[in-house]
Amino acid sequence: MQYCPKCKTEYEDHATMCVDCEVALVPNLEEHTFMKDLVRVKINDSENMIKYLEYSGITKYEKVKEKDTYLLKVAQEDYEKAVTYLNVFIHENMEETDPEDYYLDEYTSEVVDTKAKVSDMKSTVLTFGFVGTGILLLAFLNFFDIVPIPGFNKLMLTIVFGVLGVIFVGIAVKTQAGIGDAAEQVNSKEAELDDMATGYKFKYSMENFYKEHKIKTDGLDEGALYFLVFDLLKKEVKKMYPKAADTIINTVVERLYEEI
Ligand SMILES: [Zn+2]
Repeated sequence: MQYCPKCKTEYEDHATMCVDCEVALVPNLEEHTFMKDLVRVKINDSENMIKYLEYSGITKYEKVKEKDTYLLKVAQEDYEKAVTYLNVFIHENMEETDPEDYYLDEYTSEVVDTKAKVSDMKSTVLTFGFVGTGILLLAFLNFFDIVPIPGFNKLMLTIVFGVLGVIFVGIAVKTQAGIGDAAEQVNSKEAELDDMATGYKFKYSMENFYKEHKIKTDGLDEGALYFLVFDLLKKEVKKMYPKAADTIINTVVERLYEEI
């Protein structure tokens, strides 16, 4: 019997290729390590990257020479770990390089700022309220000849200023009325995030985080350590809350990180 290492379909002995996956068949699935494409890296940069991955425990890898790059493959079971260490390596050593050159797995860290909306609303209230009141005051002062504005028809100016002022103040009042609801939303979102963070902390002792995850902190700068811890936390929080959006997960992870 022959097997496809990718889709695991069985074939007769005389077969050599999987018709679906177009990969070579192997006689024994258990002894076969399926390699997964990790990254394409310029040959000049590859030596240090490979050293770093080896040092981090990624020992099963293949180098496939392409034009002026190597395609680096790692064993499927090491893939996730390799991506994490790769991120660290890139962060530490290759930040100036064009990301198109090496990145396979894009790192996204969009964070939900639940408070921004409320503070935006507050500044809208202030601005529109202030300007609107000012315009109304001008209309009033002009209409009663206290501070006459020369060169314009008094009634027209009063109407135009009055309408503008009422619109501005109206926007301020309407926004102010919405702040309560928005603030409540922020509070319930905050509570949800807190619950998620507490749920995670309950599961793991944060003091032992480095130990539990066998993170070698020697030689890692703060930024690289952040990437590494962030990725690990993200995977674990995601496992706990598989349905939560990435933005929520990221926010929870930011909070957890600050508490480590
Ligand atoms: Zn197959």
